[in-house]
Amino acid sequence: MVEAYAYGFPRIGRGRSYKFLIEGYWEGKISEKGLREGLLELEERRIGAYASEVDAFPLGELTFYDKMLDTALMVGLYSVEDLQGYYRLCRGREALTLTKWFNTNYHYLMPEVRRGSFRLNSFWVDGGLSLSHSRGVPYLLGPFTFLKLSRLEGVGFGDALFGLAQVYGELLEGMDEVHMDEPALVMELTDEERTFLREVYRELGRKSRIHLFAYYAGVDRPSFLYDLPLSSLGLDLVHGRESLKSIMREGFSRGMRLVAGVVDGRSPWRTDLEAALRLLEKLARKVDRLAISNAAPLYHLPLSLEGEDLAPQLSGRLAFAGEKLREIGLLAKVFRGEERLEEVFEPGPPGLVNFDVKRRVEEVKGREIRRLPSYGERRVLQKGLLGLPLFPTTTIGSFPQTSEVRQKRLAYKRGELAEGEYKAFVKEKIREAIRFQEEVGLDVLVHGEFERSDMVEFFAERLDGIATTAQGWVISYGTRCYRPPIIHGDVIRRRPLTLDEILYAQSLTDKPVKGMLTGPVTILAWSFVREDLPEEEVAYQIALALREEVMDYEAHGIKVIQVDEPALREKAPIKRREWDAYFSWAVKAFNLVVSRVRPDTQIHIHMCYSRFEDILGYLEEMDFDVISIEASRSRGEILRAFEERGFDREIGLGVWDVHSKEVPGVEEMMEIVERALKVIDEESFWINPDCGLKTRGWEEVGPALKNMVELATVLRRRYASGEA
Ligand code: GLN
Ligand code: ZN
Repeated sequence: MVEAYAYGFPRIGRGRSYKFLIEGYWEGKISEKGLREGLLELEERRIGAYASEVDAFPLGELTFYDKMLDTALMVGLYSVEDLQGYYRLCRGREALTLTKWFNTNYHYLMPEVRRGSFRLNSFWVDGGLSLSHSRGVPYLLGPFTFLKLSRLEGVGFGDALFGLAQVYGELLEGMDEVHMDEPALVMELTDEERTFLREVYRELGRKSRIHLFAYYAGVDRPSFLYDLPLSSLGLDLVHGRESLKSIMREGFSRGMRLVAGVVDGRSPWRTDLEAALRLLEKLARKVDRLAISNAAPLYHLPLSLEGEDLAPQLSGRLAFAGEKLREIGLLAKVFRGEERLEEVFEPGPPGLVNFDVKRRVEEVKGREIRRLPSYGERRVLQKGLLGLPLFPTTTIGSFPQTSEVRQKRLAYKRGELAEGEYKAFVKEKIREAIRFQEEVGLDVLVHGEFERSDMVEFFAERLDGIATTAQGWVISYGTRCYRPPIIHGDVIRRRPLTLDEILYAQSLTDKPVKGMLTGPVTILAWSFVREDLPEEEVAYQIALALREEVMDYEAHGIKVIQVDEPALREKAPIKRREWDAYFSWAVKAFNLVVSRVRPDTQIHIHMCYSRFEDILGYLEEMDFDVISIEASRSRGEILRAFEERGFDREIGLGVWDVHSKEVPGVEEMMEIVERALKVIDEESFWINPDCGLKTRGWEEVGPALKNMVELATVLRRRYASGEA
């Protein structure tokens, strides 16, 4: 029988119950017993959703916070006895580093693996959170992916993998069958890694019936897996065209079942079921056994469309996780001849088509977009215009989003606070922020972003062609969620986005205020995007809209403008060989935003993550003048890269790790600066925190920024006296 097999259904629950349960426990409002019961209830509903729509699904996917951490505990990397200990690894001083999960917006906790450290701790296989169900298959995150995403310290990959495989072997002894997630199979693997994988699964496949899943892209030359003793191989046939092509050309493994991922787990659009059925028919001719599934875990989608109040022509085109489950179930039933496709799906036109936008995008598509004159010339002009001291100080944009700020916004959104009053409130906050920054003595000021709920959602709400949802929560890590906007039509800026706030701030001070925008690639990366246009074109549409805002800033006397692109690096494809193609449009989208500004207008870019040793070459193609980056975690590598390649722009290496509650002292920050000054010259060095301050409290922000300014003062004195 051709089964419907779904996996990765969201854990967030109705009304974000997952988040509130766990955070309630942290705050001491919910007991451990309450937490466990609450989570089990949630799990029951999650399993219920699977069971009512599909034939097979994993059991034990739920976690207290993160599956990578659970796996680390399961294989004995940390000795954790209780939930308190568990959560110490998730948050606070002892927390593991959060890192991007493949090219998604999910983040995982990165474990550290040392030599000989594995031993089985069965409790953490599911942490007591799994239920039983006759159609469920026990879930595990596979050893290869686990190691590929861990930090290895003093142990080679092969050694670690074989050590780890033993622990998995022990575990599988007692299991009849298992669902094993191995998304790292879609990375560009070395021949050695492929050999390792074969050895490991040849062993493990003897112990238990394994259903192995690879997703987010295609597996390169997948036939190396075909003679392994695996029960099923799940492939992403939506984002993995290579896998599909290979099957069509060379066929598939004889003994294995192909779990065909044909329903996109990452896009919120309804599946063209007829096209999917045609594809399945073709596959059926190539493989012995077939199952039908989602093409990537469903937790990248909101729970369901229920309760959303979207325009009918948009909601008719959407399918969130719940609706996708139904699609998977239905496809299998139709395929088996038990049901007929009643309603024929028509993709329908996008929400808005604008011929002016289309024409403007066409115009830029084939052209190189670079800002003129060269950076060297711009630098001189900007130094003249801005007259900033050595080691200029600034912040990244946001100031604390206090509960007062959030409550007022909520009241305004609910209609309890009149627009005029809300705006006046925001202005008052801006006034306070400007006064505060002047008192502290910062050089380039910001307005504080009090009007913004979220750096992407705020812009999405103000641009035509992008919708926002009421309940479309998706987990970005642990209990943290966000609501990705949905780009469904041509993007148009009908009115200024945030000009009022910036100009108001500038009117209060003689110091330059930075105009502050979220960049096109980040808006794209953190939204769901229409599929009737290439991403590239959607990025240009957003860029063109943002450029209008930038031109307005400039026309009104704003001299410094920052474009935030924290997602630029993380949106890069999993396979390196696809990077050039991606960066060529991503870089161009950024350049488009700033392509028409005057040479003396200073353009800043901000990126949060620090691992861009490997993208420095692309950064050089981007037309910013100053870059601020988070550097607290891998400063060494960045500096080495700068040293090797050189870097001609100005740079602010974050001297304050804003993700920690500690207020950094002058000396501590000085150490960072001194090391960096060996590589970066003092004429190009900015002093700033490593990210926005919206999650910090004023009690930390005040002293920390004062220390930062003190640091700059000491440095200036040193350089003025020629001591340095
Ligand atoms: N300007 C934004 C802020 O300060 C940047 C946030 C980010 O990089 N994630 O909040
Ligand atoms: Zn940041």
